[in-house]
Amino acid sequence: MREFTLIHGCMFAGKTTQLIGLYNESMCSAEEKLAVKPLLDKRYNATTINTHSGIQMLAHRISKAEEIYPLINEMTKEVYIDEVQFFGPFIVEVIGELMMNQIKVVAAGLDKDYMARDFGPMAALKKLATQKIEVKAKCHVCNGNATFTYRKPGNDDLLLVGHTDVYEARCEAHWIEGMKDRIESISQ
Ligand SMILES: [Zn+2]
Repeated sequence: MREFTLIHGCMFAGKTTQLIGLYNESMCSAEEKLAVKPLLDKRYNATTINTHSGIQMLAHRISKAEEIYPLINEMTKEVYIDEVQFFGPFIVEVIGELMMNQIKVVAAGLDKDYMARDFGPMAALKKLATQKIEVKAKCHVCNGNATFTYRKPGNDDLLLVGHTDVYEARCEAHWIEGMKDRIESISQ
């Protein structure tokens, strides 16, 4: 059976927590599971995925999607991928191939960037997924359901990753409100 579960949502929605939860719930042994994450920020521990809630999962840091292949062996039954949005378009092929080889894939990724544009391969991955789990955050303004990521103005030169103080989860109405303020502050 081809199986690919995609956990998706905005920032602060608990995507990684959900991914680690599914990893821990799996009946497979540690040798049968592979976890990977893109190598983006060397400040963090090289082999663990950390969440805001403090739980961890051992993971290989890889810089390209095809680096998953040499990590697969005859024991591998499941592959877990965190921050899947940062891999290039080739990740779609890699996941498709794992599925064809009866390896179950679970991936977590950010839906949209702060401009609400589809993030990297996410739109293609949604089409490929056999199961989608949408996780939501709480709006920074009204505490309602948030599915958008708002980026505070004046920080355009910063890297996208790791600077969580630059971002807020927002509902659609407050994301639009924020974007209007942003445009005004830029045009002044
Ligand atoms: Zn709101």
